Amino acid sequence: MIKGYIEINKDICKGCELCIEACPQGSLRLSTHINTRGYRYVELVEQNCTGCTNCALVCPDVAITVFREQKPKKAV
Ligand code: SF4
Ligand code: SF4
Repeated sequence: MIKGYIEINKDICKGCELCIEACPQGSLRLSTHINTRGYRYVELVEQNCTGCTNCALVCPDVAITVFREQKPKKAV
């Protein structure tokens, strides 16, 4: 399975939870802390992200950036 990782710009996040609903891996949850705008923000809680990009695609505020681990190159 491809491994992924996301970065969340917590000060852009408004806690709408769309990304939490969209994540097939259940990797996201709302933090108990608030950001500079007074919203609870999303955080990555499981190390099972596949880099599917669902969360970034649904975020209306473009607060999430997705990274994918490179597949090892096949030996020739
Ligand atoms: S990239 Fe996919 S698996 Fe990873 S946190 Fe976002 S929705 Fe979940
Ligand atoms: S979809 Fe975007 S704004 Fe909404 S909770 Fe997720 S990261 Fe925050």
